Amino acid sequence: MKPTDRRSRSAWVEVDLAQLARNWALIRREVPPPVSLMFVAKDNAYGLGAVEAARVALAGPADSLAVFTLGEAEELREAGISAPILLLGERLADEVPEVLELDLEPCVGSLTMAEAFSRAGVERHRPVPVHLKINTGMNRFGFTWREARTWARRLRELPGLEFRGALSHFAQSDELDKGFARTQSARFEAVLGSLAAEGIRPRWIHHCNSGGVLDLPDAHFNRVRVGLLAQGVYPSEVCRRIEGIAPVLSLKARITAIQELEPGDTVGYGMRWRAERPCRIGVLSIGYGDGYPRLRNQGQVLLHGQRVPLVGGVTMDALMIDLSAVPAARIGDEAVLLGGQGGERITVQELAALRGTVTYDLLAGLRGRLPRRFVNAIPGPSGT
Ligand SMILES: *Cc1c(COP(=O)(O)O)cnc(C)c1O
Repeated sequence: MKPTDRRSRSAWVEVDLAQLARNWALIRREVPPPVSLMFVAKDNAYGLGAVEAARVALAGPADSLAVFTLGEAEELREAGISAPILLLGERLADEVPEVLELDLEPCVGSLTMAEAFSRAGVERHRPVPVHLKINTGMNRFGFTWREARTWARRLRELPGLEFRGALSHFAQSDELDKGFARTQSARFEAVLGSLAAEGIRPRWIHHCNSGGVLDLPDAHFNRVRVGLLAQGVYPSEVCRRIEGIAPVLSLKARITAIQELEPGDTVGYGMRWRAERPCRIGVLSIGYGDGYPRLRNQGQVLLHGQRVPLVGGVTMDALMIDLSAVPAARIGDEAVLLGGQGGERITVQELAALRGTVTYDLLAGLRGRLPRRFVNAIPGPSGT
């Protein structure tokens, strides 16, 4: 992973570590022990900064992490984090040595990969802790839920493996209709029965993402995998709310230039916005090169506690705002592109909708080019 930029910059991602810790405490109240909380820190913890967010989670109630790539796992290990790390998705055989080197717990969803890890476990004289990924209807990764006894029998015979977990993933957990989620859960439970009949009893059983944590309490088993909810963003408009959970991430930029325009003057590439009267245009040095949506004459930022509109198109490095409503605006003033200022708030949902995408995509799309500023750090154990 490209490390996050640490130089001074007039645009940045701000992460409220105290709110992140509060969110974890509130999630723990909803999902009490002995259910294990796993923090899904993939894709730079959806923009938060994986290492810092993982430390807060582990200093709180989370006992394990999940990532998707070896590079993501390496970043956490190099930061000194020794907690169990689940490697989501599926590996190819040539990735096995690095999985072992980084001391990870890989998901395994095929006999081919089970055999590859089995050989590696035998060779190193220590079993490889694997999580059996069960495909119950997502049809992305995993052993099929159909005829589970057949593949379970083959698995049972493989030496060098420790069945550390079994998991499945919901195709739809955060909509009002829970029909397919319940079908998937029933399939998963049937597979667990087949595994048990073959003598395979994995330690950790997990099916729920954030949507399931909120809306499918019957499917928590003894572990849940939490990503989005930890940062205070809900996976959908209709899933259950938890009082006190609030967003952790803000996106901010300070005004770096101001232009005085006459009627008829235009703004930006393609001259897409035209001044009708004399006005002042403020420039924020943040653009689609940072993962901000490539909007045109659309969108707002907060300035002096008010909503002000973007004008013209968002460029790679900068975007322009109309300062007409805020005559007192000056170079250096702080604008909020995501998050709260005064009594106003621009939500991730609002901005994602303007871009025609989901919250996950928007947050994870915030690039490493934006420095992360961590505020309200709580003193105490680092959790590593
Ligand atoms: C990303 C992911 C999660 C976390 O989902 P959230 O909705 O962010 O909580 C859980 N499980 C798997 C397999 C994932 O890929």
